[in-house]
Amino acid sequence: MKPVIGITCSYDLTKGYFRINKTYINAIEKAGGIPIILPSISPANVDKLLSIIDGILLSGGVDVDPYLYGEKPITTIGKIDPARDLFEMALTNSAIRREIPILAICRGIQVLNVAAGGTLYQDITTQITNPIKHKWYTSEGLDVPPNYPTHIVKIKSGSRLHKIFGREILRVNSFHHQSVKDVGRRFVATAWAEDGVIEAIEYIGESFILGVQWHPEWMINSEMIKLFEEFVKAAAEHRKT
Ligand code: MN
Repeated sequence: MKPVIGITCSYDLTKGYFRINKTYINAIEKAGGIPIILPSISPANVDKLLSIIDGILLSGGVDVDPYLYGEKPITTIGKIDPARDLFEMALTNSAIRREIPILAICRGIQVLNVAAGGTLYQDITTQITNPIKHKWYTSEGLDVPPNYPTHIVKIKSGSRLHKIFGREILRVNSFHHQSVKDVGRRFVATAWAEDGVIEAIEYIGESFILGVQWHPEWMINSEMIKLFEEFVKAAAEHRKT
């Protein structure tokens, strides 16, 4: 039986539509999972929702409300979606408690970290010394093809990521202006860009609960598909338990 993977999505405030890039759906299906889209609903319904899925993909999107990690917004912060924040925080907390596999991408790693009690840099360019370019997009669109790797990450030896890719240097794409600052409880950083920006975190424990700051869903015609395959495999294992 293929595992069912719930994928969170964005909300278009102007149009009133939920939306998700098809690349996430393609990646899960290619890796052997059955993707379903999870709209941001009441946190009260999260437990029922979790009873029908085997894994969660926390997708990319707008900034996490800094209030959730005890900070006031600085002037360079982007858009915020309070309903999505509340839903994803509840979903993530409950999934971690139940040790349901999670793959968290871009905004997802930030949600995962904040749910675990960690904090974020609200804006890398204004808050980090000598940063490289992580934000390859503007309000007009992308500055580079979405599958193009613009920087490298160094992977921690012995980490789950290291086991998945079998090496310590990986070329990744980069479409973010925020990043993990203090890592949350029961998580550890396992990949960094050359400027020290945290690019991956992993749960300390048996479960596949892992976040990456890049967008592997755009790179599934490369070895990046392995990330989805291992995640789907973990979700299938979880289904059996
Ligand atoms: Mn980056």
